Amino acid sequence: MRRRVLILGGGLSAYTAAREAVKSGCEVILAQDGAGASPFIHAFCTVLGEDDSAAFLYEDTLRSGCGQNDPTLVKILAAGAETIPAYIRELGLDFDREGDRIRLIRPLGASVARVASVGGQSGPTLLKRLKEILAASPLFRERKNTRAVSLILQNGRVTGARLYDRETGFFYDLSAGAVILATGGWCRLFPQTTTPADLSGDGIALAYQAGARLCDLEFVQFEPCAAVFPEALRGKSVITTLFYEGAVLRNKAGERFMLKAGIEGEKVQKDVLSLWMAREIDGGGGSPHGGVYLDCTAVPAEKWSGVYEAYWQRYRAVGIDLKTTCAEVAPAAHTSLGGVMIDEACRTTVPGLYACGEVTGGLHGANRLGGNAGLETLVFGALAGKSAAAEAADVPPLPERRAPAQHGRPEPALLREAFGKKLALGLGVERCEERLREGVAWIENALGSPFDPACPEEKRLENDLICARLALTAARMRRESCGCHVRLDSVESPEKYRITVQKQNGKALFEKKTIEVSK
Ligand SMILES: Cc1cc2nc3c(=O)[nH]c(=O)nc-3n(C[C@H](O)[C@H](O)[C@H](O)COP(=O)(O)OP(=O)(O)OC[C@H]3O[C@@H](n4cnc5c(N)ncnc54)[C@H](O)[C@@H]3O)c2cc1C
Repeated sequence: MRRRVLILGGGLSAYTAAREAVKSGCEVILAQDGAGASPFIHAFCTVLGEDDSAAFLYEDTLRSGCGQNDPTLVKILAAGAETIPAYIRELGLDFDREGDRIRLIRPLGASVARVASVGGQSGPTLLKRLKEILAASPLFRERKNTRAVSLILQNGRVTGARLYDRETGFFYDLSAGAVILATGGWCRLFPQTTTPADLSGDGIALAYQAGARLCDLEFVQFEPCAAVFPEALRGKSVITTLFYEGAVLRNKAGERFMLKAGIEGEKVQKDVLSLWMAREIDGGGGSPHGGVYLDCTAVPAEKWSGVYEAYWQRYRAVGIDLKTTCAEVAPAAHTSLGGVMIDEACRTTVPGLYACGEVTGGLHGANRLGGNAGLETLVFGALAGKSAAAEAADVPPLPERRAPAQHGRPEPALLREAFGKKLALGLGVERCEERLREGVAWIENALGSPFDPACPEEKRLENDLICARLALTAARMRRESCGCHVRLDSVESPEKYRITVQKQNGKALFEKKTIEVSK
């Protein structure tokens, strides 16, 4: 019997894992419902610069994460960065260049220029290439328009997943010797987000229900410069490296309010930018559509070709010329930094279950360094694929179980709208006890009603509510501000700890775990 690896997700983590698992000789089934956030990856961290090294990337990542990162995972990421040039060559691709030199951008918070791109837009280029390679393998099969709704456990081991096929309208069970969760982040739960509609809280809820330990769920990174106008561009972000090219932020009076934050102005980490923008908007200094003004008029003309052209084109298509006109932008939920805990081989705490990419927690700490998410998909995707393939058990096929989905109750849509508002209020850029408590109570009440497991919309909403309840509770437990977790009612805390949660005896058991100091 050939060992089978089931991969849940269709982003870069998933396809990277699939390629490695296929290389190891496993049968691989990849179930996905879209490409997630991966097609938006413009560029990612490398250590290609002459003045750069894995050690510098390691230090920058820890500094950005306020030391809340899991140092083991950061070491793997930094070491993995050194292998990326060979990997890109192996895929038959090359980094984008300026003349003879690889074009490198300096992300906010990094000590050197190190963000590189492949084929203009790295995400789509890498996805396309990986899909081409996998399509040629008889070991690889893909299930499109398919969502996992729960994991199957036998004697404490994950042995498959229950999937919902949106095309046929049927649920069915699929067995596997190892399952890799690569379902991405959960920022889509917020009403103002940069992330696409196929993302959800499914991955977090599935892992939690299976008994896996999760961590850092209070850390949600907001993208400072997401469009609030026009509606067609809502949630679409503008890259913050433009601030190194002369772009600035202004309030409705035309003032550069970021200078109040310090002499670096807009050239600060994303959490600091988001916070000052949110305060300016809440304080009445915002633009007509609830944002602030992004003024790119001082960006030199030649910069608009190449790296930044896509942003200019996007606004141009809706009649706004960024070279001469300001855009209206506001913070939007962008990356969830917490998630499923993994070890150095991407194993979760449940045998048979592996995880990689944005669904995991611990790597980025309290704040993600720009460009590290793309690198994470490549480094940890490969690791998860290798580990799962090496450790996949022989699992006998599950008995054929197919069941038609039921649809129809109008409540989920109404409940979802109310839920989004509660989540945004409780888990926004600035948090406080009162709003967090209110959010938790509201969600617990919502979860008190029965959800029909035969209705995919209800199942997904239930998963999203479970995910949000865990995140709101974690945010409530961390009473001090830390990185992108900013509290209006912050208290002093000398402790360095990680909040973890695991389902035990049907209840969420939250624990504070001391963080090991990195050596
Ligand atoms: C607008 C934007 C721009 C970004 N730009 C950059 C950048 O330039 N550089 C950088 O480093 N990072 C960037 N990021 C972050 C980066 O895109 C993500 O962190 C990364 O793509 C995550 O990859 P992933 O494979 O883990 O998840 P995703 O790419 O999000 O993929 C998740 C997959 O899981 C699937 N899925 C979800 N639920 C289920 C389910 N229940 N069953 C089956 N499948 C499911 C989804 O359909 C999707 O296929 C950006 C993010 C956004 C939103």
